[in-house]
Amino acid sequence: MQVANTIEEARVLRRGYSGESLGLVPTMGYLHEGHIALVRRAKTENDRVAVSIFVNPKQFGPTEDLGRYPRDLQRDLQLLEAAGVDFVFVPDGEVMYPGDFQTIVQVTEVTKQLEGARRPTHFDGVTTVVAKLFNIIEPARAYFGQKDAQQVAVVRQMVRDLNFNLDIVVCPTVREADGLAMSSRNKYLSTEQRAAAAALYGALRRAEALWSAGERRGDALRDAMESVLAAEPLARIDYVSAADPETLREVEHEVRPGQGVLLSMAVFFDKTRLIDNFLLMPV
Ligand code: AMP
Repeated sequence: MQVANTIEEARVLRRGYSGESLGLVPTMGYLHEGHIALVRRAKTENDRVAVSIFVNPKQFGPTEDLGRYPRDLQRDLQLLEAAGVDFVFVPDGEVMYPGDFQTIVQVTEVTKQLEGARRPTHFDGVTTVVAKLFNIIEPARAYFGQKDAQQVAVVRQMVRDLNFNLDIVVCPTVREADGLAMSSRNKYLSTEQRAAAAALYGALRRAEALWSAGERRGDALRDAMESVLAAEPLARIDYVSAADPETLREVEHEVRPGQGVLLSMAVFFDKTRLIDNFLLMPV
C-alpha cells in the first residue's frame, strides 16, 4: 500500500494505474467498519482502490468539533492495508488549501434543508473538497455511505451539474448490534449516552413500522420518531424529518402514492450530535 501526502505524489501514483479502473473512498479518518464496508465494495468493482483521509476544516462550522475530531492515522493505515487498499491520500490543510485558496464549489438548492439548514457552510466545504479529490485522484467510481443521506444528494447534484466523469456508488449504513449507526463521533459518548443513543434507531424503526402499515402522513411519521426520542432523557432533538428523497423538502401532508420518503434526524447527547436516516421505498 502506498501513501501520498502531496498532490504531486498522488498524481504520480494515479498515473501508475493508468488504464485501470480506480475506486475512491473519501473519509475523515478514525476508521470503522462503515468505512471498511465502502472499501470492500470498491474492491469488488474496481481494479484499484484509493482512500483519502482528510479532516476537512471547511466543512466544520466555527462552533463545531474540528479541534477535537478523533484521529489515529497509524491505526487507519493498518486497517486499510489489511483491507487491501492500493493507495491512501493523506494531505494536510496547507496542501489542500494553500494561503491563496479562494474557490468554493456550491450546490444551491438541495443544501437548504436538513443538515444544510443547521450547518450553513457545511456542504460548501464538502463539495469543495470532494471536487478537489475527484480532480486529484480521477476515480471511475466514488463511494459514499447512506448514513450521510443529504451528502449523497448534494454530491450527486454536483457531479451532474459539473459533468464529473465518474459514478457515485451509495452503500448501506453499517450499524452496531443495538442499531446505532457507526460513526467516528460515537467515541465522544459516555457509557450512559452510548446506551441512550440506540434511541435514534428505535425512532426510525417505529416510523418504519407505521410506514409498513400504510401510514403516509408526514406529521404522523415525524411524531412517531419524536415520541421515541422524547422518552430518552439524555437525547435532545435537533430535528426530525420526513422528506421527499429527491428534493429533501418536508412532506407537508402525505407522501404521494408510489413515492418513497427519507426519514432523518439529528440528536444531541450533550455536545455530541448524531445523525441517522432510513430511506423507505413504496411497497
Ligand atoms: P466520514 O469519515 O465520517 O466523513 O465518512 C466517510 C464516508 O463513510 C462517508 O461517505 C460516510 O457516509 C461513510 N460512512 C460513515 N459512517 C458510515 C456507516 N456507519 N455506514 C456506512 N457508511 C458510513
